[in-house]
Amino acid sequence: AIPVIAIDGPSASGKGTVAALVAKELGFHYLDSGAIYRVTALAAQRAGIALDDENALAELAGKLDVSFDNGEIWLDGTQVGEAVRTEESGNAASKIASLPRLRAALLAFQRSFRKAPGLVADGRDMGSVVFPDATLKIFLTASAEVRAERRYKQLMEKGMRANLSQILQDLQQRDARDSARSVAPLQKCADASLLDTDTLTIAAAVNEVLRRYQA
Ligand code: C5P
Repeated sequence: AIPVIAIDGPSASGKGTVAALVAKELGFHYLDSGAIYRVTALAAQRAGIALDDENALAELAGKLDVSFDNGEIWLDGTQVGEAVRTEESGNAASKIASLPRLRAALLAFQRSFRKAPGLVADGRDMGSVVFPDATLKIFLTASAEVRAERRYKQLMEKGMRANLSQILQDLQQRDARDSARSVAPLQKCADASLLDTDTLTIAAAVNEVLRRYQA
């Protein structure tokens, strides 16, 4: 089977950055599954579909015209840009992500990213639901305070307005919603190995994933 490295964890844990670098290092494809939820929420908002209209959302997800190209996301033929990188976008994604039919409608699309020579996929349920037979499963985490600070720095670097205590509150709210939902809740699956990045640099986290993959 084509190898998959599944990297799951809470928001702003650094899993996206680490996953993309691991993919680059191995020459593997990369799937940012959170971006799929974010862009689906954006498409829904553009189409005037309420974020709790499960049937309409599942139908929309089934015919989504989305593609990824070098970190850039295209929706219906136009570049999405930073519109899916805001906290509002993350919250909208988290709302629709609690709907089982919506999640089911996105499964095949996510699995289509598994191509030779391999895939690194990050999200919440890569190891538990989307790629249960993944070669390596990592649960990458960090304390809420460290994650909030990383997100804060990221936003500042992009010149976006940010408030640290608001970010911390948003993160905790989103994690609580992601953990409490009935389908694919945010949690470390039994066969995933824990990687706490509180005191790790990005480079060290990347090396650790590579070491476990090659072990
Ligand atoms: O990872 P990211 O913060 O971009 O994800 C946005 C939201 O999408 C998460 O808060 C989560 O609710 C949802 N998500 C999910 N399953 C995934 C990836 C993201 O439910 N595999």
